[in-house]
Amino acid sequence: MTYEEAPACDRHESVVPMKLRTMHSDSSRPDTVVGLYECPECGHERRYPIRSGEAA
Ligand SMILES: [Zn+2]
Repeated sequence: MTYEEAPACDRHESVVPMKLRTMHSDSSRPDTVVGLYECPECGHERRYPIRSGEAA
């Protein structure tokens, strides 16, 4: 699976796209899924919102 909106790890001079580990739904924002990303280079984790569904 690839996500074009995957965030880049900011701990490297080069752009290192982070990999999606898990996704969590936010009950207060049902149209938004929060993904937990991990950098394959340094293991840095970061939460990043993923827009689910098609653009309305
Ligand atoms: Zn990194």
